[in-house]
Amino acid sequence: MKYDTLVFELSKSGRIGYSLAKEQYPQYSLNDISEYLRTDELLLPEISELDCVRHFTNISQKNFGVESGFYPLGSCTMKYNPKINEEIAKSYSFTKLHPYQPVTTVQGALRLYYELQQTLAKISGLSEFTLNSYAGAHGELVGLMIMKQYHLQRKDFKRNKVIIPDSAHGTNPASVTVSGMEVIEIESNELGMVDLDALRAVLSDEIAGMMLTNPNTLGIFEKDICDITRLVHEAGGLMYYDGANLNAMLGKVRPGDMGFDIMHINLHKTFSTPHGGGGPGSGPVGVKDFLTDYLPNPVVKKLDDYYYIANEKDAIGQISGYFGNFLVEARAYSYILNLGKENLKWVGPYSVLNANYIREKLRNDYVLPIQDYCMHEVVFDGLVDNPNEIRTLDVAKRLLDYGMHAPTIYFPLLFHQSIMIEPTETESLQTIDQFIETMKTIAEEAKTEPETLRQAPLNTPISRTDEVFAAKQMIFTYKDYLEYIRNEG
Ligand SMILES: *Cc1c(COP(=O)(O)O)cnc(C)c1O
Repeated sequence: MKYDTLVFELSKSGRIGYSLAKEQYPQYSLNDISEYLRTDELLLPEISELDCVRHFTNISQKNFGVESGFYPLGSCTMKYNPKINEEIAKSYSFTKLHPYQPVTTVQGALRLYYELQQTLAKISGLSEFTLNSYAGAHGELVGLMIMKQYHLQRKDFKRNKVIIPDSAHGTNPASVTVSGMEVIEIESNELGMVDLDALRAVLSDEIAGMMLTNPNTLGIFEKDICDITRLVHEAGGLMYYDGANLNAMLGKVRPGDMGFDIMHINLHKTFSTPHGGGGPGSGPVGVKDFLTDYLPNPVVKKLDDYYYIANEKDAIGQISGYFGNFLVEARAYSYILNLGKENLKWVGPYSVLNANYIREKLRNDYVLPIQDYCMHEVVFDGLVDNPNEIRTLDVAKRLLDYGMHAPTIYFPLLFHQSIMIEPTETESLQTIDQFIETMKTIAEEAKTEPETLRQAPLNTPISRTDEVFAAKQMIFTYKDYLEYIRNEG
């Protein structure tokens, strides 16, 4: 059987996209190397250039991204990434670097690394950052290794437990487990915040520290944050800040000032690298002064105007190949410099304003389980008037029909019909108003045409998928797909 009929549905034997005219290149004789020439068939589709271009263009249009429409995915900060930062990251002088080049030839790159980590330190109120970690969860692990190292160096061997509130991002308990420590979960109070009594009850000399994010994963600012950090410190623990979503805070408050000792930042959420689809990411880890010796190797140092690479003896070790995902770092620094200090401080206020605007406009149509103002994201708990028992899933699927990405649903787990909306600061009032109108239309449809909602989405390339199947049986290529069909008979 010919390979084309087996694998590529557009392939037709003998079709050609492009061919080199052999007679134009008489100087290259294949006879000299005939023994190296492949003899088996080249497994490529046979297709014209035009059909090939259309194929990929059509596939690209079946996708949805922040550049196709509104993408208010909560706990995720899907905001627009300005193109100028892509241009910088694409520049020849960055893309052609090699990690083993002599240090004197990469002074610019080392300077970028150094200045970015110092800028992040200023933004967050900490002392020093490593940019070597590849993602948020990776940063968490590095931060926890630093926390562990700190206690071990002080010969405080009993400290092996990390407190995490039940509203935390799922990666937090996972990272604690991977780091070899133990999770202690505490419940939130009715306002969705850390319950101080619950916290006091678990504090002991076995506590290594606490992981927290503020605004927390419900989008609420922990008002008792100074008491929380004080209590944990008094018990001998360190405070870890999950700064994956820094958007609500930029320019307003700093984790260092709230009493946090260690944190990570997701450059691929807040600082201009597109995310979703698995990377590349970057999860810089910052620490207060007394922990800088433990930051992972290699470290970029500065002496007068000269930048050099050092390996420190107390470091937790090396946690990545070299200096992390450097081009993500380049985007982040470009983003920060382009906005500048004056504009960076508006990121937080605008992202908070936009979320609260949606909160106010939709509170009559969707259940608002938390009465207080929200930060950069707002959580609703299903429809207010819901005679047909329409679920949050149906509302989210219906949004796709209106050309908007669905918000995060069924997270946080505290409510049964959660829908978590994060508009970000990059959206215009017109776009946000359009979203509000659409959400109101859907609330109306829930009463008048419930079946439409249960069937939605009706005009996307695929409708409802079997998500369990999709997660368990990953089919990434056409070849895998055929394999699957074959096995299923
Ligand atoms: C996204 C996120 C993470 C994990 O970041 P990854 O880069 O996906 O590993 C951790 N915590 C919070 C609060 C997040 O939003």
